[in-house]
Amino acid sequence: MRKILRTAPLLLPLLASCVAEERDSFFAMDTVVELCAVGGDRALEGARRAVENVEGWADCYDPEAELYRLNLSASRGPVRVSKGLAEVLDVSLEVAGKSGGAFDPTVLPLIEAYGFNGEKRRVPGDGEIFGILPHVDYRQVGLAGDFVEMPESFALDLGGVAKGYAVDQALEAMKEAGAEGGLVNIGGDIAVFGERAGGGPWSIGVQHPRAPGELFAILELESGAVATSGDYERYFVEDGVRYHHILDPKTGRPARGLISVTVTAPTCVLADAYATAVFVLGLEKGARLLEADDDLEGLLIYTNDDGGLGFTVTDGLEGRLDFLQGK
Ligand code: ADP
Ligand code: MG
Repeated sequence: MRKILRTAPLLLPLLASCVAEERDSFFAMDTVVELCAVGGDRALEGARRAVENVEGWADCYDPEAELYRLNLSASRGPVRVSKGLAEVLDVSLEVAGKSGGAFDPTVLPLIEAYGFNGEKRRVPGDGEIFGILPHVDYRQVGLAGDFVEMPESFALDLGGVAKGYAVDQALEAMKEAGAEGGLVNIGGDIAVFGERAGGGPWSIGVQHPRAPGELFAILELESGAVATSGDYERYFVEDGVRYHHILDPKTGRPARGLISVTVTAPTCVLADAYATAVFVLGLEKGARLLEADDDLEGLLIYTNDDGGLGFTVTDGLEGRLDFLQGK
């Protein structure tokens, strides 16, 4: 598969006191994976296999991957897909509906137009974007059980959710191996369960969106998941304008307004999808989407007119974040 080196993970779990916890770290899904398990029989091995399994089918650029093959064949009639792919697509279509299409798994033709697939990065003109937009619409994707169908020129990009799903699968594998607690971090998409070896909750660092390597806030998480979408992860600058990889499916242009969105949810696949969705929706609509669902909370960061950073926290996260950088 194509390996694109990325910047440091968005969220850096603070594993310093990981003494009796077993750890593993490796490169997969274009980023760094960190595993930490408390007890269990070969929990790390099982978790690693789970990540590599998702990586094997979810890459829309890898000719060996199921998703790549689906994109080539799904316009010729319903294609049966694996349980994992059907599950991830199901969540994607659900979040697409709830976000009014801000999250849309059919963005692949747009992503490719900017060269975010590893080709030369470029800014497509308006004419090119208008030509692509009719082929970006999640409502045209048919998912019935584990059969998928979509029109010609449509293609799925599950890059906005697949890492979250892999986190969930890896955590599940740790539980199945009998671990009492654990943490999985795939490039800043994180889920935890149980207790740390020394007791107490897991501390998760939220990356500062404009100071690489520095933390913006620390979140204590007892269970569940957290994911961040930011404009600093994969981008290029042309004529002084930042073009990043989270696109607004309505305009075909990079979503403007927010620079970082961190979402907590019961599962990482949901946290991942909603972080991307809220990033596209922007401050007001994004915060409203999170407030409307008791299971979702978030931290939304933006730049002020004076160039400083501002942020909003949903009610349920109020008091649970330790801010290292002021407004
Ligand atoms: P990261 O992969 O950096 O953690 P995200 O979870 O926000 O960040 O995913 C961004 C990826 O999601 C993009 O690289 C692209 O593959 C895909 N994507 C971009 N815009 C959208 C969108 N509006 N809806 C769904 N997926 C998107
Ligand atoms: Mg995401």
